[in-house]
Amino acid sequence: MKKYLKNLVLVGSMFFVGCTSLVERKEEASIIIKNGTVLTMNEKRDVIENGVVVIKNNKIISVGDEELLKQYSAKKVIDAEDGIVMPGMINTHTHVAMTVFRSLADDVPDRLNRYIFPLENKMVSPEMAYLGAKHGTMEMALGGVTTMVDMYLFEDSAVEAVKEVGLRGIMTQNIIKYPTADGKTKGETLNRAIALIEKYQNDELITPGLAPHAPNTVTKEELLEIKRVSEKYNAPVSMHVAETDKEFEKFQKEFNMTPVEYLDSLGLLNERFISAHNIFVTDNDIEILKKRDVGIAHNMVANVKSAKGISPALKMHDNGLRVGLGTDGPMSGNTLDIIGQLGYVAKIHKLNSKDRSALPPKKAVEMATIGGARAIHRENDLGSLENGKLADIVIVETKSVNMNPIYDPYSALVYSANASNVDTVIVNGKVIVEDKEIKTVDYKKVIKDITEFKKKVEEVAKTL
Ligand SMILES: [Zn+2]
Repeated sequence: MKKYLKNLVLVGSMFFVGCTSLVERKEEASIIIKNGTVLTMNEKRDVIENGVVVIKNNKIISVGDEELLKQYSAKKVIDAEDGIVMPGMINTHTHVAMTVFRSLADDVPDRLNRYIFPLENKMVSPEMAYLGAKHGTMEMALGGVTTMVDMYLFEDSAVEAVKEVGLRGIMTQNIIKYPTADGKTKGETLNRAIALIEKYQNDELITPGLAPHAPNTVTKEELLEIKRVSEKYNAPVSMHVAETDKEFEKFQKEFNMTPVEYLDSLGLLNERFISAHNIFVTDNDIEILKKRDVGIAHNMVANVKSAKGISPALKMHDNGLRVGLGTDGPMSGNTLDIIGQLGYVAKIHKLNSKDRSALPPKKAVEMATIGGARAIHRENDLGSLENGKLADIVIVETKSVNMNPIYDPYSALVYSANASNVDTVIVNGKVIVEDKEIKTVDYKKVIKDITEFKKKVEEVAKTL
C-alpha cells in the first residue's frame, strides 16, 4: 500500500513537473492578437492569413502564423475573428480642436479670412482647445488613427486631451503674424511653442513642435526664429505650404520664387519639416522637398472640398518622397479618420492621371501607414507590424455587410470600409478602443460637453 502511494505521488509529481515545463516553455506576453489577416506593411508587404501578432509592454515582439500561439501566452488574447489586422493609421495634418466648429459656414467664399479667423479670435480659448481636441481625438481613435500631427492655438490644452484619449501626437503650436486669441503680443506664440517643447520633449506619446501657419502669414524674422528653436530642441515644424494660387502668385511676384524655394532660401526645409498640402509645387520644388528629406502631408479630401486643387502627391510618392495622408482640420475636411480618405485618394489620382492602375489600393494603404510614418521620420518604430516596433495596431472587422465578400484585403480597406468598421485600436501597447467602444474617456460626456459649447459658438456666429 505504502509503495503504491509512493508510486502515485511520483507519477503525480512527474505529471505536475511536465505541465509546468510546458507552461514555462511559453514566453509571457502582454497581448496576443490571433485569427486575423495581418497586413504587415513590412518591406515585402507580407500578408499573413490566420496571422498572430504578439505584444509585450509597448512593443511588438513577434508577427507570424498560428505556430506563434505555441510559443507565447498572454493574459489578454484578442480574437480578430477574421478581421484585418494592420498598423495604426497616421493622420499627418490636422487641427483637432476645430472639431467644435465642424459644419459651420461650409462653402462660404474666402472662408478663412471672412469666417474662420474672426471666429477664432472671438471663440478660441484653452477650454475650447481642450474640448475640441478631446472630441476629435476620440473620433480619430474610433476610426483607427493612432498618431496625429496637429497644429493649432493653445496647443498645450489640446495635448492634455490627446493624452487622456491615449493617442500618439506630434503637437505643434501655431505661430502667425496676426494677433490671435493665444498671442496678443509679438513673440507670445513662439514662447508658447518653446514652453510646450520644454514641457513635453521627453513624453512617451507626445512630440511637441512649432507650427508656422503658412509662408504668407508668418514674417521672415519669425521663420528664422522658428528655424533656430527647431534646431536647438530638435523639434518638428509643421506648416501649410503652397496651398493656394494666391500664395504662389505672391511669392512669384515679390521674390521671383515659389513658396517652397522661399522656405528653402531661409534654410527651413529639412528632415524635421512636415509640409502640408503642396498643391502649387513645380518639378523643381519636388526635387527640393526630396533633397531636404521633407515629410509630405497629403490632404486630398480637404483640398477637393475647398476646390483648391490636386496636389501632385502621387508623383511625389512615386519619386520616393515621404508622403503620408492627412485630413486637415474638421472645418476643412469634416472627418478626422484616415480610412475615409483612402478611396478619395485612390480615385481622384486615378482620374487625374487618366490611369486606373496609377494608385492601386495597396499604395493607398501604404500612404496611410508606413508612408505616414516616413512623413514624420518615424519609420523605424511606427507604420508597420514588425518585431521591435511600437505596438500601434488596428483591427478592422469584416463581419459587417459592407465588408463582404473580401477577395483582396487592401481593396476592401480602400473601397469598401469606413471608420465604423474599426473594431479594436491599440496605441503603445494599450487597448484604447475595443468592440468599437472607446475605453479611455466617457464618450457620452464628451459629446454632451461639445453640444453645450456649440450654443456659445452659434451666438457668436450670428454676429459674423
Ligand atoms: Zn491645415
